Amino acid sequence: MKLKDKVAFVTGAASGIGRKIAETFAREGARVVIADLNQEAALETAAQLCAAGHDALGVAVDVSSEAQVDAAVGRAVAHFGGLDVLVSNAGIQIVKPVDAFGFDEWKRMLSIHLDGAFLTTRAALRHMYASGRGGSVIYMGSVHSKEASLLKAPYVTAKHGLIGLAKVVAKEGAPHGVRANVICPGFVRTPLVDKQIPEQARTLGISEDDVVRKVMLKETVDGEFTTLEDVAEVALMFAAFPSNALTGQSMVVSHGWFMQ
Ligand code: NAD
Repeated sequence: MKLKDKVAFVTGAASGIGRKIAETFAREGARVVIADLNQEAALETAAQLCAAGHDALGVAVDVSSEAQVDAAVGRAVAHFGGLDVLVSNAGIQIVKPVDAFGFDEWKRMLSIHLDGAFLTTRAALRHMYASGRGGSVIYMGSVHSKEASLLKAPYVTAKHGLIGLAKVVAKEGAPHGVRANVICPGFVRTPLVDKQIPEQARTLGISEDDVVRKVMLKETVDGEFTTLEDVAEVALMFAAFPSNALTGQSMVVSHGWFMQ
């Protein structure tokens, strides 16, 4: 078991990628906090993990709220007696051309993706530094941390920004044994992507099948979606890596869509 008795706080863990990461970490012995805006789904996910013999806690949190994040992380630390891994994963998508974006939509995107990453990082670091146990901070970036696509200005901006945050946390966290890294997945079939397919088809004036084949998977080496398992295995590697040798990095897992 690679994460035996570690405590992992995973945001957006009631669905998609976050949920798979929480399940994978639990399988590897971690006690997991299912932190999500969707309270009902967070509690249900935690209950299912507990029913399967794991140790999990569901907490409702809006990652863009300073008070809610501090309270949720504090509750997790009190419940499990510490915090070793943060996965800052919660996210949404809004697609439209720059000239059509509302300022409120722009701010909402940056607030969830960037304020959420900052707030959860700050709360986690305070506990990690105080405990002296070190830790691992993992950000859910995207190929869009490296590359641009049509219709995704705030998403691409925010995902690029996460790499900057991770590099600073890697430098500041090193003396405390805290590592920070970014996972950059290609397209994964989750509710976030399923919602985009008809939206992009409408905006680009093409069929949904063409959105998948000619937009989303066009640049991959094999026309395949990245899977939840692929992303969760990279998260496990970052979480379990034993030293500061692997810090400040971003790893692209995208079927070759983007090659470093
Ligand atoms: P998803 O929609 O399946 O899950 C996202 C979860 O985040 C949901 O449970 C939702 O309730 C939660 N959430 C949304 N806003 C929140 C908030 N303010 N506070 C707390 N929780 C909130 O999406 P997913 O595809 O699993 O995406 C997870 C992350 O992976 C996102 O950051 C996304 O940008 C990133 N990502 C996804 C893909 C993909 O193709 N699916 C690719 C690259 C990166």
